[in-house]
Amino acid sequence: MTLAGRAAIRERPLAAFHRSLQERAQRKRVPVYAFVELTYGCNLRCVHCYNPTHKARGEMTTAQVRSILDGLHGEGTAFVAFTGGELFTRRDWPEVLAHAKRLGMQITVSTNATRIMREVAERLARVNPLHVKVSLYGATRETYERVTGVRGSFRRFLAGVTRLRRRGVRVLLTSVILRENAHEIDAMRSLCARMGLPFQYSADIHPRVDGDRSPLRHRIDEATAHRIWRDCVAAPALRRGAFPLDPSGAPPTAPEDAPAGPDPCGGTAPAGPFACQCGRSRIVVTPYGKANLCLSVYAPGYDLLAGSVAEGWKALVSYVDHTPATDAHECPACPVSRFCERTSGASFLEMGDVNACVPNHKALATLRQAWHRDAWDRPGRDPRGGGRQGKDPA
Ligand code: SF4
Ligand code: SF4
Repeated sequence: MTLAGRAAIRERPLAAFHRSLQERAQRKRVPVYAFVELTYGCNLRCVHCYNPTHKARGEMTTAQVRSILDGLHGEGTAFVAFTGGELFTRRDWPEVLAHAKRLGMQITVSTNATRIMREVAERLARVNPLHVKVSLYGATRETYERVTGVRGSFRRFLAGVTRLRRRGVRVLLTSVILRENAHEIDAMRSLCARMGLPFQYSADIHPRVDGDRSPLRHRIDEATAHRIWRDCVAAPALRRGAFPLDPSGAPPTAPEDAPAGPDPCGGTAPAGPFACQCGRSRIVVTPYGKANLCLSVYAPGYDLLAGSVAEGWKALVSYVDHTPATDAHECPACPVSRFCERTSGASFLEMGDVNACVPNHKALATLRQAWHRDAWDRPGRDPRGGGRQGKDPA
């Protein structure tokens, strides 16, 4: 029986299942989760995009993708997330997804939904992915299209999501929060609610993978990011008693109704520059057939088309195991580490060093810690950390 199978036979809530699977995969060094970037081609031109080209040139053929999926299957991959670019710009997507399905992999798909026509929705429904993750760039046409740079894209996005939902495909909307749309966060929450979908968001903006830092111009400032976390995540968690009192407990990072799933950047990895699942239970494949640690860490770039997935995975494991913590790695002694969501990818892309602290993350962690202290210094706090929770400060 596979690693995934053994964990799956126990009935557990989904989050606990993924946590358990991730821990076991990490111990045995099995790439149980794979991200396959099928193409960098995309029909949109989002201002913050980390995609270096938006054009599909020199990318893997169908046969090459199939062969890499076979190799991943051989190494124990059980969950594959197909992403882009915009993967529905690739004509062979039905064949690729069907192949993964035949191998017994659980599939998730990321898309901007603007190319989900009736036939695409029907074929996707037949594939029955675990979910289809759709990015939400604004609650109004004006704002959405200011981000995507393409007229008509908001209407096509709404139509695409509707087509998927009508066919029973599980859709998750992730609001991508930028300077251009932060004023619409409440409207985006309402839009999710009107569609009957849970609200979740991401304000994580990185430089492009080719080093271009222009996406950072669109990142919201730390005070705004903090306010959103406070209002959408922390204060509701505090009110319902779900904010950990134990200083070693991790504060919540997602809204209450955000669906459970694998936590690719978190988990319980050993301390060090890669305190995440890169090269432990997770592998990324680029549209050119290169194996990397994550979508942001463009290394080691092992060429799967010239070698094998088994060798590529070994290269990733070795990269993680032999990248030492240097003097730049301040995290173990950092007073705000509990509130920090740094990833090695952010350090790599923004600071050029997987060990380095990212100032944006530090500023945000400091604000979160101060807010939490304030919440607990208010009357009503139970200093023993018992049943009663603090009141959230305004
Ligand atoms: S939809 Fe995605 S890949 Fe396409 S431009 Fe926007 S962020 Fe980039
Ligand atoms: S604030 Fe900097 S030093 Fe502290 S945990 Fe985050 S990345 Fe590490």
